[in-house]
Amino acid sequence: MRNFDNPVEVIPKAMTTQLIKGIHHVTATVNDAQEDYDFYTRLLGQRLVKKTVNFDNNRVYHFYYGDEVGSPGAIMTTFPYKGEGVRQGTIGAGQVAITGFSVPAKAVPFWKRRLESAGLAVAEMVKFGKPTLQFEDPSGLILEATGNDEDEREPWVTDEIGRDNAIRGFYSVTLSVAEAGSTYGFLTGEFGFEKVGAEGNITRFAAHGGGPGQYVDVREDKNAERGINGIGTVHHVAWRVENDEALLAMRRRLADELGFKVTEVKDRKYFHSIYFRMPGGVLFEIATIPPGFAVDEPVERLGQALKLPEWEEPNRSRIESELPEIKIADHV
Ligand code: ZN
Repeated sequence: MRNFDNPVEVIPKAMTTQLIKGIHHVTATVNDAQEDYDFYTRLLGQRLVKKTVNFDNNRVYHFYYGDEVGSPGAIMTTFPYKGEGVRQGTIGAGQVAITGFSVPAKAVPFWKRRLESAGLAVAEMVKFGKPTLQFEDPSGLILEATGNDEDEREPWVTDEIGRDNAIRGFYSVTLSVAEAGSTYGFLTGEFGFEKVGAEGNITRFAAHGGGPGQYVDVREDKNAERGINGIGTVHHVAWRVENDEALLAMRRRLADELGFKVTEVKDRKYFHSIYFRMPGGVLFEIATIPPGFAVDEPVERLGQALKLPEWEEPNRSRIESELPEIKIADHV
């Protein structure tokens, strides 16, 4: 592992506001592993790009869903905590309240039919001029599908969901905060995001010029209770940076100059990252784009085998016997 404490100084301090390129991934605490897998792969048509364990708790899977390779900006990740004594959470202030996916505008009726056929309640609305469907995943996470014609990303397709309809990755995340002023200041001042719109109590910000996967909506919920971490809530949103130098520059800025409580750089095998709580209370991660999910298995076989970090390999047989068995479809 590289030595993160002795970095090459390549990024001038003043330039840290240009380093966050958009969403990297969203990580949620969910309930049942099989139910979660079926929902994100079969119903939403995402590819399981990594089946591993929670690096901090090897009794729990860590699933990564995305496009073919798990491109940053298109990675939904879940910890299925069923049976581990984790309570149902409450979505509230200080959390990512909504995770939004990007679909072609013409695909919105397809998704409404598909989700309703699966028994989901689907609310239809227009947000910032875009046709938007809102629904819940099996654990109670609030998801959206935003119809738009700006998304050039290549989607993962399945037998049931073709290129015309498939999810392209994330569109946006919505942060719920009790008092928005400090969040606005942080996003524009430190992340270099630009305010691009406001509707009611929601203010939209764009990372790096905006576009799908580069929007964050800040919803000021003045009377909201604080969210409670648990099943059915987003644990954190991660923002992407190009490389370790950018990650370290952000860490220096946030920890050394601004005084945020920031973790050391964590080696998450598929990216390197730091975590901290932003002023509105939401847990943020900053994660590197490399090395990506093909670092320990070929792209064609991503997600098929249980991959473990090196330090867990000696425990593989026990870990495998204790994890719930899940049926992985071979056609997705
Ligand atoms: Zn993460």
